[in-house]
Amino acid sequence: MYKTQYKNYISVIFLLFLIFFKGYSQKFFFSSDKDQLWLSTDLHIHSIFSDGTVWPSIRVEEARREGLDLIAITEHLEYQPHKEDIPNPDKNRSFFVASKALKNGEKLRVINGSEITREMPPGHINAVFVRDANLLLHEDSLSGIKEANKQNAFVFWNHPNWDAQRIDGMARLDKFHEYLIKNQLLHGIEVVNEFTFSEEALQIALENNLTILGNSDIHGITDWEHQISNGGHRPMTLVNVENQSEKSFKMALFEGKTVVWFKDLLIGKEENLKALIKDNLVFGPLKYIEGKLIGEVELTNKSMNPIKMEYLGDFSFHKRSNVFSIPANSKIILQIKTRIRKKKVSLPFRILNAVTAPKKTLNYTFILK
Ligand SMILES: [Zn+2]
Ligand SMILES: [Zn+2]
Repeated sequence: MYKTQYKNYISVIFLLFLIFFKGYSQKFFFSSDKDQLWLSTDLHIHSIFSDGTVWPSIRVEEARREGLDLIAITEHLEYQPHKEDIPNPDKNRSFFVASKALKNGEKLRVINGSEITREMPPGHINAVFVRDANLLLHEDSLSGIKEANKQNAFVFWNHPNWDAQRIDGMARLDKFHEYLIKNQLLHGIEVVNEFTFSEEALQIALENNLTILGNSDIHGITDWEHQISNGGHRPMTLVNVENQSEKSFKMALFEGKTVVWFKDLLIGKEENLKALIKDNLVFGPLKYIEGKLIGEVELTNKSMNPIKMEYLGDFSFHKRSNVFSIPANSKIILQIKTRIRKKKVSLPFRILNAVTAPKKTLNYTFILK
């Protein structure tokens, strides 16, 4: 009997150990090369200090549980519907409260931001890496945007497709936006906001060399909005950085090194999507089955997103068609009927859920040896 109890103790301790490490294990949504890193970020977040429904520390806890690397707290400067209960005279306050909720040594970071909230044009403009949010509040929006730039903030246009401000849901530039872009006062644009994806915003980003962004603009609870406990995730911006420092992160944002992860879509400039696919879709060595002229290769999806592929070349596969998908974090075997034994094979693919431009998906050729 004592022995059984002892065994039970051991099992309970082991179970607690597993729960503890599962809860605190670091998540990697996408793998990266050892000299590069894909940071997962959400640069558009509200709390009760503007029109959100939760205290800023809950934002930190959500991001921690979901495994994000960096979040920006971006309260509406002008729109303060809870001010009767929370007067909020210092517009940096929610950022301070969120920062205090961070634990020593954890990977998650919080940066300060603001949403300059105006009619169209310019609509809603976010500034992140803000030093003092109070100084961004002016009568006219342009003075606030100029001040954000004076503070070396990264400034972007939120939900340019928002149907409250564009009744046709079409993102388009007004003279004001053209002025901001021409004068380098605007650096990025949300191509994904909450539940929407805008092809027109993507086109504007590509034509004007703006950084492509996707953010949650969360007001309620991320788990409820994005079904995270059922395997969902909030929209996020993956940023390709050289190291984990804030300096490197900011530089990568200004350089436009981003890919948006929205549902099972990856959206970004071609070179950035190529870098992400290269790090996350990995072919093993090409082998031949004994006595056969059928090549065999293992293909691994190292990311937490399923990848849908269409083969564009002349070979055919032995056990599947030219269109298939690889679930998140899994491997498949591809048997290629090359007819003669080959030392090297190139396989051109279209990645069907990697969007590089409106109505255009990524072409990527894998070289197998
Ligand atoms: Zn907004
Ligand atoms: Zn917002």
